[in-house]
Amino acid sequence: MSDAIAVINAGSSSLKFSLFAQRGVELDLVARGQAEGLFTSPKFVARDGDGKVVDQKAWGDGQKLGHEGALDYLVSVLREHYSDHRLAAIGHRVVHGGLEYTRPTRMDAGIVAALEKYVPLAPLHQPHNLAPITLLLARDPQLPQVACFDTAFHRVQPELAQAFALPRRITDRGVLRYGFHGLSYEYIAQALPQFDARAASGKTVVLHLGNGASMCAIADGRSMASTMGFTAADGLPMGTRCGALDPGVVLYLMDELRMDARAIERLIYHESGLLGVSGISSDMRTLEESADPRARAAIDLFAYRIGRELGSLAAALGGLDAIVFTAGIGEHSVLLRERVCRDARWLGVELDGAANARHGPRISTQASRVSAWVIPTNEELMIARHTRSVLG
Ligand code: ADP
Repeated sequence: MSDAIAVINAGSSSLKFSLFAQRGVELDLVARGQAEGLFTSPKFVARDGDGKVVDQKAWGDGQKLGHEGALDYLVSVLREHYSDHRLAAIGHRVVHGGLEYTRPTRMDAGIVAALEKYVPLAPLHQPHNLAPITLLLARDPQLPQVACFDTAFHRVQPELAQAFALPRRITDRGVLRYGFHGLSYEYIAQALPQFDARAASGKTVVLHLGNGASMCAIADGRSMASTMGFTAADGLPMGTRCGALDPGVVLYLMDELRMDARAIERLIYHESGLLGVSGISSDMRTLEESADPRARAAIDLFAYRIGRELGSLAAALGGLDAIVFTAGIGEHSVLLRERVCRDARWLGVELDGAANARHGPRISTQASRVSAWVIPTNEELMIARHTRSVLG
């Protein structure tokens, strides 16, 4: 029987999981999957490390499984299929650790309560991230649980990079640029030395381009600046989020369109970005396949904003040695990477088109002053590693 670490990433209507077996110093993926549509049309799927389906279930339209039901079902699947593994600990993705939680942390009821004060800073994620921790603490208080924070990697940023130009009475309440996707950036920072030792100890911009999208300036493995700010709505346009917005637009929406906070929240988190601009889809694949000029306009705006942020982050670093593409769009979209690299020629990026077409890992020419890479991210493995090290 080998020890295993489960990783849980709970969202508003989904619960993703991975199971890693400890083999010496290695962590081997033995299963991964998700329950989604928890309140509308629940579906569960679990696959083994090779991608073969080991369990699948659908509850039907109108059924509600909820987080508790999903967790129960997951536990029953793990018992049935992986009884030869002893569950040693669970690692959780938690979006916000505020200023206080800058490292992965073993959870107890007191810390859950402390983390609840960040719910107003991340209302769409934090409550869902904490819910399974509370449920599992009640059921099995002896089972170690570790929270890993998306904000933690960025806490070493210079104060300037975290500051808003607002009066102290506001910033003293914790209104600053936290940055997110930290577990993904940390994973890439740890992987980069195997690809490009010079960049790993130098200046790199990582582009995490998924449904949620952000970019991070990293110097010698440490976060120096990022495009996301107080919330995960800032920076790049995303699948359904608008990204950076003149604050005057919010005042206009309130004064002229009489929109309240909830209506504006819906607009900026769920109705904007690629979906809002195209009016077609939030999904890059769908937009790339579409001949509709609005799909093209959405991709153009996404690429343009990435190019501007790249210049800004290179300025924050005072130079650039490498760029790294990761997450769904970054890892798979040949077209988008080509656009971004061509726009970044002035920074010293020279694309190798053939290498880009086969997804790299190196997609810049050997002569390129700034190297460009495609490196798949692995936030779950990062969480499992942290969980193991917290438990010693
Ligand atoms: P999340 O932020 O939800 O984890 P992902 O990292 O899975 O998102 O990224 C999802 C995005 O990746 C979607 O826009 C999807 O269309 C895009 N994507 C996935 N595969 C491809 C592909 N082959 N070409 C272009 N875009 C892709």
